[in-house]
Amino acid sequence: MTVTVRFAPSPTGRLHAGNIRTAIINALFARKAEGNFILRLDDTDKERSTQEFAQGIEEDIAWLELNWSDKVRQSDRLARYDAAVEKLKEMGRLYPAYETPEELELKRKRQLARGKPPVYDRAALKLTDDEKAALEAEGRTPHWRFRLEPRDVVWEDLVRGQQHVDAGSLSDPVLIRGDGTFLYTLPSVVDDIDLGITHVVRGEDHVANTAPQIQLFEALGADAPRFGHHNLLVGADGAALSKRDKSLSIQGMREEGLDPLAVVSYAATIGTSDPVAPHDDLNELAKAFDFGKLSRAPARFDPNELRLLNAKLLHARPYDAVAEQLETMGVTGGRAFWDAVRGNLTTLAEAKDWWAVVTGPVEPSIEDPAFCGTAGDLLPPEPWNEETWGAWTGAVKAETGAKGKALFQPLRLALTGKPHGPELKQLLPLIGRTRALSRLRGEVA
Ligand code: GLU
Repeated sequence: MTVTVRFAPSPTGRLHAGNIRTAIINALFARKAEGNFILRLDDTDKERSTQEFAQGIEEDIAWLELNWSDKVRQSDRLARYDAAVEKLKEMGRLYPAYETPEELELKRKRQLARGKPPVYDRAALKLTDDEKAALEAEGRTPHWRFRLEPRDVVWEDLVRGQQHVDAGSLSDPVLIRGDGTFLYTLPSVVDDIDLGITHVVRGEDHVANTAPQIQLFEALGADAPRFGHHNLLVGADGAALSKRDKSLSIQGMREEGLDPLAVVSYAATIGTSDPVAPHDDLNELAKAFDFGKLSRAPARFDPNELRLLNAKLLHARPYDAVAEQLETMGVTGGRAFWDAVRGNLTTLAEAKDWWAVVTGPVEPSIEDPAFCGTAGDLLPPEPWNEETWGAWTGAVKAETGAKGKALFQPLRLALTGKPHGPELKQLLPLIGRTRALSRLRGEVA
């Protein structure tokens, strides 16, 4: 059996930390099993789904390099859902109900007041044809409910272990709204059957849909796939994530200059028994992935922790892996520059800022012009290498008597205009004698 999974976002917004984690878990699982990862756009909600969001979602997933092997859109598959509806109607498993939302709400309130669970009472099942005709003559259009069989539904959840649900205690789910549009339940099951989905892997918020969906698979003559419901994310403070928070959107992470592999590494390791660590290879992450490692408790998503992970990833990244990106950014300092600055980066974009410090113009920050002037006079002739810094500062120390921070800090401020940064022994040869001398003399260079 070839593992086939799907990530099924609704194109009613861009991707964010919460749903991208579902995509990542599915993609890693498929990669590990050498199976298929399908992108399914759940766009049956015509009012809220847009082409722009669909395109944005594809861009987000492509940026994360979670290549999908196949893409389907639910709006292209309506005929398949209609066929399933006919089948269910013939079997007497789909029935029209005419209650208005207000009437349903009233029923719920009455049940709760009597201490009963608010389960739909199936009044619509008892309607005669004449009664239905009368209701329709009143101008009511029916919504359609799936008649559940009152039995225990059991599945072995990939994350939560064995689950039992007494379907007799559930309301018959509405599959089709009064306006004829589909709710998510039926199209999802029909697609999962048609696409040969072997494992439905999604967030815990869907666990209540599973028992009715298993009955739907069976009613439609299919074997239900395996199900796995992963833990959900909360923010660093333990509160629910806000979909509007830019630092939680994939677009925001991308604009911030974070590395896709840092995002994937982070999302794949939080809320698991593995340490949160950077992986520079999707295959390595996939190999380590296991449903058994997922915790049942909510996972904390902390944008600062993600940044830290991004920094770690960059610090370890060899020059050859970034050479092309640096070139595109106009950073032409080569290997020497990368080795000088990588330890100081949180995002790759910051390499550009350090390159600007090397190439100038830099406004030097000078408190003691005499000291910097003397240091300038002592600059050795080129060629320079990593030894130059030690030899030069040794000479400045001998001449001025300054040592430690009093020696190094004024030089750093003059040469870079900044109080912190990469090691000067590596940066100095890149800055070069001409610029170094001008900066030590207080000139913008
Ligand atoms: N469109 C649904 C969602 O985004 C898919 C749920 C599922 O994976 O079954 O929540």
